[in-house]
Amino acid sequence: MAQTSDKPASVSTEDSAASFAYLISELSTSLINAAPDEAELHIERSLAALGSNDRKDRCYVFLFTDDYRHMTNTHEWVNRGISSHKDDLQNIPLEAMPWFFTSMRADGKVVVSCTDQLPDVTGGFKEELQREQIQSMLAVGMYLEGKLIGFVGCDLVQRSTLWSDEDVRQMQLVADMIANTIARHRTESQLHQVQSELRAANERLAQLAHEDSLTGLINRRGLDAVLETELRRTQRKQQFLSVLMVDIDHFKALNDKHGHLGGDAALCSVAGILLKTFQRSGEKVARFGGDEFVVICPVMSAEVAEQRATELLQAIASNTSVAPVTVSIGVLSFIPAADTTPGSVLRQVDRAVYEAKDKGRNCFVRRPFG
Ligand code: GH3
Ligand code: MG
Repeated sequence: MAQTSDKPASVSTEDSAASFAYLISELSTSLINAAPDEAELHIERSLAALGSNDRKDRCYVFLFTDDYRHMTNTHEWVNRGISSHKDDLQNIPLEAMPWFFTSMRADGKVVVSCTDQLPDVTGGFKEELQREQIQSMLAVGMYLEGKLIGFVGCDLVQRSTLWSDEDVRQMQLVADMIANTIARHRTESQLHQVQSELRAANERLAQLAHEDSLTGLINRRGLDAVLETELRRTQRKQQFLSVLMVDIDHFKALNDKHGHLGGDAALCSVAGILLKTFQRSGEKVARFGGDEFVVICPVMSAEVAEQRATELLQAIASNTSVAPVTVSIGVLSFIPAADTTPGSVLRQVDRAVYEAKDKGRNCFVRRPFG
């Protein structure tokens, strides 16, 4: 302990133990009940309460970095007419005040009743107190799981006091309370961080589970989910749903001629054209498997579906980026019934594709539902 001076004064002795006990009880209740995002505010309020009634001129919290190389003034309360130093006391190297830090680590507190009587060995620390015109200061360590993480302190400026054991004990109570608040806040923000990382990972997993790895389109599993949703929605509102199935013509021959990678490039190119052609609100493009794609168009009549199928045939025919391909398209436009299933829709639209192949390919066939 760095107890100095025999210069008596009366600042803290004026506080009766009872009024301080009341203050502590109020503070601890408010800190315990603080919501995670209110912790900062409650620490500020605790410091203000500690200094109220002219008991102190400045009350503050400093936190050390994990490697004990620096400390930062994170919270501060100042009495009327007293200057704030928080902004100058950010990321201060601890090597500038070796005596202060060594005492804090050894004793868990630094008690200065009269700055002028500090021995020369205190070096930069004494100079800093003098620079801030501090005559008495008291600092008590804050610990988390036995590790010193910082301290709570208070200053008297241009007046001094002989700190008593009771002053130190009271300060220790406040330091413990604030350390607990910081611990809770850290645990809660770590938990929050882990939860949001987990949520992002889950969203990505769900997305991957519904994504075709080659084209980035919705895969078969995703298609079933989308179709189910749109069937139910359009059935409820008694609106038309149009479904197009698109199969590349003679794709085996393209694979033979250009190799599997050439085939993959053609699949990606067709996927790109599909996405570009069907990008109106609610339209979804999926890879059904192999060289087959499915487009779901909610609230689209048979007539519009036929126009869009014609546009698609033209867009594919005019595409020059890969080996030329054509496609055959099956079209199904209907108002779903309550018992219509994704499986029955896909079976029927697949039949329409076969009919388009039979018709000579590079065309579409629309079938009535049922
Ligand atoms: P049709 O005009 O009757 O559709 O003839 P097709 O040759 O296109 O016949 P089909 O649609 O049955 O052939 C699909 C081919 O697609 C068979 C398979 O080798 C090939 N295939 C399936 N998946 C992939 C893939 O991921 N990459 C590549 N390059 N080829 C694939
Ligand atoms: Mg094919």
